[in-house]
Amino acid sequence: MLMAQDDQQRLIDAATAKRQQHYQCPGCRAPVQLKRGTVVTAHFAHQAHHSCQTFSEGETAEHLLGKQQLAAWFKASGYQVQLEAPLKALHQRPDVLVQLPGQPPLALEFQCSPLSVTRLKARTQGYHNHGYRVLWLLGSPYQQPRLRPTSKAMKFLQLSTQWGCYLVFWETDQQALQLKFNLLSFDGDPLTSQRQFFHSQHQSVAQLLAYHPILLRPQLVPKQFQRQQRRLLVGRLTQQPRLVALQTRCYQQGGTLATLPRWVYPMTAKWPILTTPFLDWYMQVFFQLRQLADTILSLKQLVQLGWQTLQPCLAVTSCIMKPRQLQLRLIQALLTELVTQHVLIAVPNGWRVNSRQLAWRR
Ligand SMILES: [Zn+2]
Repeated sequence: MLMAQDDQQRLIDAATAKRQQHYQCPGCRAPVQLKRGTVVTAHFAHQAHHSCQTFSEGETAEHLLGKQQLAAWFKASGYQVQLEAPLKALHQRPDVLVQLPGQPPLALEFQCSPLSVTRLKARTQGYHNHGYRVLWLLGSPYQQPRLRPTSKAMKFLQLSTQWGCYLVFWETDQQALQLKFNLLSFDGDPLTSQRQFFHSQHQSVAQLLAYHPILLRPQLVPKQFQRQQRRLLVGRLTQQPRLVALQTRCYQQGGTLATLPRWVYPMTAKWPILTTPFLDWYMQVFFQLRQLADTILSLKQLVQLGWQTLQPCLAVTSCIMKPRQLQLRLIQALLTELVTQHVLIAVPNGWRVNSRQLAWRR
C-alpha cells in the first residue's frame, strides 16, 4: 500500500512519511512498516504472514509503481486524484480514484495479479451499483504478443462505441498506456486489433479520452479462408474432439463439415465474446433453420432463434456494461448476414426460410 494512517488517523503517503512514526493499515488497522529504498517504490507493508482483507501482500513492485505513475499522470493532466481511496459503502479501495468534472468518479484498477472472473464481476458490479465508473488497466502478467479469445486478459474486455471491444494495458517501464482496441475474432486465428500508445511524459489524459480512431472492419481474405479450411481438415484427420463432435452433428443431418453451405463459415471478423468459434454457433443456426425450411418467421421468432443458439456459446463478460445489448447486436449481425446470403428472404409478413440455401454442398 502507498498510504497508511498515522497516530492521528491521517492518511500519509509513503513517499513523504517520516521514518520514526508508527503507521497502521487503513483497512485492518494492524501496524505496518515503511519500506523506502532506492530500488522499490516507497510503500507500507504488513508484518510477515499477516493476512489482510483490504491489502493483499501479493502487491508486486510493478503494481506499487504503476498506481503511483497513474495517479501522477491524471494529476498532471489536471484531475483531482486520490490514491487507495477508502470507499466505505463498497468496502473497496480503488488503486486511484479520479474526479472528472461533471461526470461520475472514475476508479482506476491496475491489475497485475490473477483475479477470478467471479471476483472481477463482483468488483465491477460494486463500482457500478454505487455510481462509480471503473477502468481496468492490465500489467505485464497479462501482456501477450498475440491475444486469443481464451487469453486471461480477455475477461477484462470492455466495450465502447469509440473503441469497440478494447483492453487497456499500463507499461511501467515506458510510463505509457497501451490501448488495444477494435479487438475482433476470425475463428481459429489470433485476434485482430488496432493499437495506440499514450506516453504520460508528453501526452495528457485528455488526449486519450478524445481519441476517436477509425475502426477498421477486416474481412477474411481467400488465403485466410483456405488456411481455416485446411486447419479444419487436419483437425478432422487427427480426430480433434471438438471437430469430431461437429462432424457427428453433420452426419446426423445427412452431411459433412466439408459440405456445409459457404455462409455457415463466418467471413467477417466478429466481437470476441464467445468461448467457441463462431462456426459452432452458425452451425447450430444452420441446423435449426433446416427444421424450419420454407416456413415464414417473424422478427421476434428469428431473434429468439438467435438467442437460443447463442447462449451456450457465450463467454462470461465481466467488465462489459449491458452485455445483453452487445449480444443482441451479434444476433442482428447474424440476421443481416442471413438476409445478405439469401438464407432469409423478406416477404410481406416476415422472412421466408430459403430451403435452397440450406442444402448441403456437393
Ligand atoms: Zn491491513
